[in-house]
Amino acid sequence: MPVLKIIHPSNPVLRKKAAQVTVFDTGLQNLIDDMIETMQAAPGVGLAAPQVSESIRLFVARLEEDSVDEIDVDAPKQPMAPGLGRTHVMINPKITRFVGEDVVGTEACLSIPGFLGDVTRPNGIIIKYLDRQGQRRKLRTHGWLARVLQHEYDHLDGILFIDKAEKVWRSDSEKHTETEQN
Ligand code: ZN
Repeated sequence: MPVLKIIHPSNPVLRKKAAQVTVFDTGLQNLIDDMIETMQAAPGVGLAAPQVSESIRLFVARLEEDSVDEIDVDAPKQPMAPGLGRTHVMINPKITRFVGEDVVGTEACLSIPGFLGDVTRPNGIIIKYLDRQGQRRKLRTHGWLARVLQHEYDHLDGILFIDKAEKVWRSDSEKHTETEQN
């Protein structure tokens, strides 16, 4: 499984509205596996298909093992892999509800290396999607995972975190460098 090339904003694919996935074939399964490997290798906590030049509505994200963000899951739980966490694969996702207060969080993006930004987003979401087998799923989550999923969701509409950030700065100018990239 190859690690895929992650594109930057100079590539117009990153700014396109991505198309719905209609075919669940071997090509799609291979792309999903390659995206998971690419996310882990980066390392990042989320990766959307447009970031690897595939303009389709698909992203992968992973929940760190120590997180308690995931609640009320209407989907079979994927296993936690040691050191990698639980990987979510979401196809044709739709955020059906925002839940809770708006909160500010610091984000980064594998397509915009070296930069961080403070983005205000709703703390929780309910998201409907298809899993990699094409089965309908629904996930209710809040906190860090909800932020990651909203960031990835934006990628499918050509929106980058720098569009929404109140403040963007170079990561090497920051004291703390623990922010994860997605
Ligand atoms: Zn991103």
